[in-house]
Amino acid sequence: MRMGRVEARVSQGETIFGKIIRGEIPSDKVYEDDLAVAFRDIHPVAPSHVLVVPKHPFVSLLDSSPAEAAVLGHLLWVAAEVARREGYAEDGFRVVINNGESAGQEVEHLHLHVLGGRRFGWPPG
Ligand code: 5GP
Repeated sequence: MRMGRVEARVSQGETIFGKIIRGEIPSDKVYEDDLAVAFRDIHPVAPSHVLVVPKHPFVSLLDSSPAEAAVLGHLLWVAAEVARREGYAEDGFRVVINNGESAGQEVEHLHLHVLGGRRFGWPPG
């Protein structure tokens, strides 16, 4: 059963990404600032697979307000910065947000997948 928005926020610190943000478990970070952290996915599906995670504990895209839009936009800039740092910005890369159960979201803390280093098919699986 999915949690309600308030319950989800209260327990947000219990997700694996909350622990990574707080440094309680290790991660291979490629970028960090006041608003976000980016680290390598533990099960990469591309030669470079980096997760961009906001420090604010959004559960998903649905868990945000217009006042928080600047933070959401910043995550896209971080995704581009990750692509530059990983060396495939010019070749092309893919940014994915799995939002909710049908899309395959497993971790209830909003995150962007930044994928690069190979060609990607369309439509996605
Ligand atoms: P989702 O399916 O929710 O869109 O993506 C969650 C991603 O988090 C998956 O690609 C999974 O491999 C990654 N992941 C899960 N646990 C950990 C972890 O402890 N460390 C790292 N670096 N990635 C994780």
